Amino acid sequence: MNPIKRRDFLKKSTAALAGGSVLLTGCQSGTEDAGPAVHTRKKYRWKMVTTWTPRFPVMGEGAELFAQWVEEMSGGQMKIHVYGAGELVPAFEAFEAVRSGVAEMSHGVSYYWAGKIPAAQFFAAVPFGMNAQQMNAWILSGGGLQLWEELYAPFGLLPMPAGNTGFQMGGWFNREINSVRDLQGLKMRIPGLGGKVIDKAGGAGIVKSGAEIYTNLERGVIDATEWIGPYHDYLKGFHKIARYYYYPGWHEPGTVLELTVSKPAFEKLPAELQGIIRAAAFRANTWMLSEFEAKNNEYLQKLVNEHHVQLRRFPDDVLAAFKRYSGEVIQELIASDEQARKIYTSFKEFKDNVSGWSRISEAVYYSTMA
Ligand code: CA
Repeated sequence: MNPIKRRDFLKKSTAALAGGSVLLTGCQSGTEDAGPAVHTRKKYRWKMVTTWTPRFPVMGEGAELFAQWVEEMSGGQMKIHVYGAGELVPAFEAFEAVRSGVAEMSHGVSYYWAGKIPAAQFFAAVPFGMNAQQMNAWILSGGGLQLWEELYAPFGLLPMPAGNTGFQMGGWFNREINSVRDLQGLKMRIPGLGGKVIDKAGGAGIVKSGAEIYTNLERGVIDATEWIGPYHDYLKGFHKIARYYYYPGWHEPGTVLELTVSKPAFEKLPAELQGIIRAAAFRANTWMLSEFEAKNNEYLQKLVNEHHVQLRRFPDDVLAAFKRYSGEVIQELIASDEQARKIYTSFKEFKDNVSGWSRISEAVYYSTMA
């Protein structure tokens, strides 16, 4: 085949393979005998804002890996620059940044947008809700994703699950919780629906940014704080200033981390790049949950064996009270919000059904673990 014919053949076959959707911006110029022609595909350079401080363990690292995987899978056709919170926009403006086109994607947690879209909280964490495995099952195989997409569509955003913290810890306390009476006047840093539960229990759920928590707890401005799990809690150093480490994390049993993509920008992408973004989100979803599970185990051992942290289980009556108040908080949320009611109906139905299976499978199995 002479070079000109071969170049035409390559051009046609590349377009055919890609279903004609790849934009060929022309072959690079060169002499006819310079070897196989090189085609330049349209390149995409996107921005991802995040709610995490730069290179935040697991979540921030996972966002960077997501970008790396997209670049690798697309052969460099798509590159995503990841910005930590405050580098392009502040953490809690990530949603608006994608909506307004400042960035094409964001990584964070949907409960940060509760003020704007209360129903979004069901796609992050619900007190006494579902664990990571069950949340994935509801979102990916139980109709949850469709409801999530409907919820974000008016904002021009496309959500995808892209990570999960797994089970969190109940938090660090400077007073012992032996009964519901000990919750009276408790000042605890705990955002979202969990904070409202603490209010109902006679305490005060307080919202503080991650940077303020340590000094507030150290100075007694707050009596308790939740954060994430043993790995992140260890890195924060809470074991140096708090007496008791309580479990379980009833308020965040499997918090979903989300990727939001600008819908108009996504729809303009060739199908293969859309597929690559979805595949990388799936990979991030599994990678982050796996990192949490492995690291939490390792750092719990470190906290207990090297730092002699006093682990405490919430008493049954305290957990029962948290559960009762959680039910009230959710009822109040859905009473005034049609979208929240529709989404919670699906969530609750799935949870009730999956509980029947979990009770005779994993619950029994866990009880046999030494
Ligand atoms: Ca938390």
